Formats: sequence, structure tokens, C-alpha cells
Amino acid sequence: MGAGKKPFTSQVAGHAGVSMSEDGSLLFKPALPHEVAFYEHLTSDPGSAPLRRYIPKFYGTLRLEGQVEDGNLETLHEAPAPSEEKESIVLENLTHRFLKPNILDLKLGTRLHDDEASEEKKARMIEKANDTTSSKTGLLLTGFQIHDTVTGQAVTVPRSYGKSLKPSDLPDGIAKFFPVHSEQLSQGLPKEQLLPVIESIRRHVAAVRDAFARLELRMIGGSFLIVYEGDLERAKQGIALLGEGDSDEDEEDDEDESDDEDEDEEKIKPCPPCLVKLIDFAHTKVVTGRGPDEGVLLGMDTTLKLLDGRIAQIKQS
Ligand code: ADP
Ligand code: MN
Repeated sequence: MGAGKKPFTSQVAGHAGVSMSEDGSLLFKPALPHEVAFYEHLTSDPGSAPLRRYIPKFYGTLRLEGQVEDGNLETLHEAPAPSEEKESIVLENLTHRFLKPNILDLKLGTRLHDDEASEEKKARMIEKANDTTSSKTGLLLTGFQIHDTVTGQAVTVPRSYGKSLKPSDLPDGIAKFFPVHSEQLSQGLPKEQLLPVIESIRRHVAAVRDAFARLELRMIGGSFLIVYEGDLERAKQGIALLGEGDSDEDEEDDEDESDDEDEDEEKIKPCPPCLVKLIDFAHTKVVTGRGPDEGVLLGMDTTLKLLDGRIAQIKQS
């Protein structure tokens, strides 16, 4: 890859050091060998086929000369990745095709500690699960960004917000990510667009849940990454696509992405108005014979309930 890299500006949680290609289509994320191996497993193992469409496309690994620094991100992110993390995974940038991506990272699972972690980290992660919504609901609202249609800027909600929530506050958190746009509130989408978008997201989450329930994995610290279009005109174009044959709204046809297509055309090409993927496999293991990850499934079920609740609220509004 001869092209340069630049800081990734649509990151809502996690460690610093994520960068992207000049054209923004690829993401370079520092990764330990375990995550590299898991992506290789997911993309080659026949048994993992059901999940493959619900993860970012994986293009391999890359050794970056240095880490991209971005001082502005410091308050938002955890400590920088340790220096041994020189290798980066090359992933599809899930936010690339959105004009104004509204992005939510929902950490899944009731347990956040890896058996292989140091005693100190294990204790810290157990405390984090118990002090947050994770242990009871299998879900932690890790962070999100939402565009303001007046300023055109993305507003980022820091991870302290999600950590402060009680299980009974989760519906408020979800409502903040899916606000009904109005004269008083310049975020989100109007009711007519917001409803079909959330309903589509709900169908995606249900499909991921079904696929995940068939696999014997333990996913520690992995997330749902939920993205929806915050630009009203673009969102309307995308919503129009949802009606066309209900079959495969979530999978864009990658095969037809010809190289001679220039960047602008690609951006204009109509796309679904939202997506749901699983990300962050730094601590995911295959546990053949031990059944699915019940803590993660609980988090997925919590997500479904929250989306149902928000859909009902919006219908009544
Ligand atoms: P970690 O939490 O271990 O630092 P993640 O894989 O969760 O690493 O990535 C951190 C953040 O980067 C995510 O919260 C998300 O905002 C962003 N991100 C990760 N992978 C992608 C992707 N493929 N496309 C777009 N954004 C991504
Ligand atoms: Mn993460």
C-alpha cells in the first residue's frame, strides 16, 4: 500500500492510534497477534460463515512506520496501545460511505475480563462490569457521535457518559443516539425517516443475534458498531432502497465496485441508510463444545429490547 495514511476522525471509543487511508475507505488499527489470528480464522473457517457478513471486511495486516498522533482524541480514549502493537489490521472503514455518520459503539457481554489478563487487569475489568450496565444487561454504551445539522459537526459523547448509566437509564442513552429531529433539536432525523432506519437496524441486530447464537465463541470486549446516515437527503435516498425487495438490504454488492469508479461517484451511489457490524476481536476465542456466549447474547437481546422501546416511543410521539 503505497498511499499515505491520516488520522481516523470517526472513532467513538477504544484505544488511540487508529488511522485510515487517504481516500478514507480503509482503516488501519493496531492489533495484537490474537486479533489478527481471529480475523484470519473468521474469514477462512467454514463454520464462521454465518458471521462473516456481519464483520468489517478484513484485508490483511500492515506494519506502520509510526503511530498517528492526535492530541484531540486523548481525553476520549484509553491509554495508547503498548509499543509491541506494531502490526495493524487493515479493515473496511464502516463509516466511509456515510455523509454524516452517526456512530454508536455498544460493548457486548456480561464479563469484560480475559482469563489470560494480568491479575491487576482482571480485577479492574471485573469492577468495570459490576459498576456499569455490563454485568446485568450484557451491554455497555461505550461511546457515540451524532451530527448536529445546524453546525454540520459531529458531537461526541465521552465514555464517562455510558459508564455512568444504570440499567434503567439505558433507554435514555438510546434515545440520545436516535433523537427525533425537530425545530427545537438539530440532531437525528425526522420521525418519518428515523422510524424505518431504527426498524432496519433492529432487523440487522436480530440477524446478527441468530448468526452468533449458532457459534461457540467467547467474545470479551467486542462491540456492535451501529451507524446511520445523519444527512437527511442521503438518508431519504437510502430509505428508498430498503423497500426494494426485502431480501438483502444489509449487504451492498461489493463485487460491482469497479476500480475505475472514482471517489465522488462512489459517494453518490445510493446506499442503505444504516449498518450494524460486530467489531473488536482482541479477546475473542473459539470454545468448541461449550455452546454460545450467553453474556453476549444477553447484550444482543437487551439491544433488541431497547430498539423496540425506542420504536414504540417514536410511534407515540
Ligand atoms: P479497541 O476498543 O480495542 O481500541 P476497536 O476495534 O473497538 O478497538 O476500535 C475502536 C473504535 O474504532 C471503535 O469504537 C470504532 O469507533 C472505531 N472502529 C473500529 N473498527 C472500525 C471499522 N471497521 N470501521 C469504522 N470504525 C471502526
Ligand atoms: Mn472496542
